[in-house]
Amino acid sequence: MIRVTRDHVIYAFSKEDQPAAYAEPGQCVEFETYDCYQGVMLKEGSTFRDFDRRFGNPATGPVFVRSAMPGDTLKIKILKLEPGPVGILDIGGNSGALREAFAGREPVIKRLTVKDGMIDYEGILVPAKPMIGVIGVAPMGEPVGTMTPMDHGGNMDCTRIEEGATLYLPVSVEGALLSVGDFHAVMGEGEVANCGVEIEGRAVLEVDVLKSTGISWPMVENLEQWITIAYGDTLDEASHKAVVQMFHFLCRKKGLSEVDAGMLMDMAGDLMVCQIVNPKKTARMEVPKWLVEKLGR
Ligand code: CA
Ligand code: CA
Repeated sequence: MIRVTRDHVIYAFSKEDQPAAYAEPGQCVEFETYDCYQGVMLKEGSTFRDFDRRFGNPATGPVFVRSAMPGDTLKIKILKLEPGPVGILDIGGNSGALREAFAGREPVIKRLTVKDGMIDYEGILVPAKPMIGVIGVAPMGEPVGTMTPMDHGGNMDCTRIEEGATLYLPVSVEGALLSVGDFHAVMGEGEVANCGVEIEGRAVLEVDVLKSTGISWPMVENLEQWITIAYGDTLDEASHKAVVQMFHFLCRKKGLSEVDAGMLMDMAGDLMVCQIVNPKKTARMEVPKWLVEKLGR
C-alpha cells in the first residue's frame, strides 16, 4: 500500500502541484491528514489568534493516479476512515447561519475526546459518524482553494463521503492529482453554525480510473443509493444543479425515460443540504438504487 504522510499538504487544488506519490489504478493509498486547523487548536488554551486562517483546511496529497486522463472519472472507494483521538468544535461570528447571533463575541472552542466510536461532549456521548470534508482532484484552470467546493470536489462537506462509500470525481488533468483532508468525527446535515467535529485521521482509499464516462460532476454510491453532489453560489443554485445532474445520470447512464427519472425523484428521491457555510454551498440528490434498477432498461 502507498502511504502519504501529512508532511505533504496543499491549501489549493492545482494542476501545477508536484505529486506526493504515484498510484496504479486499483491500488490502495493511505492518507494521513491534519484537522482543518492543522493541529494548532489541539493545544489546550490555544485560540484563533494562534491560527493563521490562510492555512485553513490543509489537505494531504496530491496523488498522481496513472492512466487517469481528462474526461475520465476517478473512482475512489473509501475502505477505511479512522478519526484521531480529539476533535474540535468552535462557534463564532465568522460563518454560518448564526453569525449575527455570535457577531463580535470571542469564538468558543471545545476539544472533544473521541473514543470507541463515541464523542464526549460535556459528558454526553454522541455517536461518531466519520466523514471526509475535503476530497478532490486538480481542476483544469486556476487553482481552487481547499475551502471551496466545485466540480473537482474540494470542500463538499457531504456526510455520505464516509467509510464504505464510493466517490466518483471527474478528472481534469493527467494523473487526476487527488488530495484529502478536513475529516469530521461527526457533522450535522448542513453544517449550519460553523463546523463539524474537526479532526485529524487516517483514510485508506482504493483508487481506480473509469474511461470517458461523460459524467462531469461528483457522485457518490453506497449500498442503497446513487447521489449527485452539486455546488453553487446559493443553495438554490446548488439544489437545482444536483437534481438536473441526477436526472441526466438516470437517463443517460441508467436507461430511465425522462418521465420515469422525474417521477422517481418526486416519489422517492431526497434533496439534501450538505453545507451552507463554505464560500460555495453544496447540495445533494439521493435516489434509491433498487428503484433505479427496476425502472432502468
Ligand atoms: Ca469543510
Ligand atoms: Ca471541516
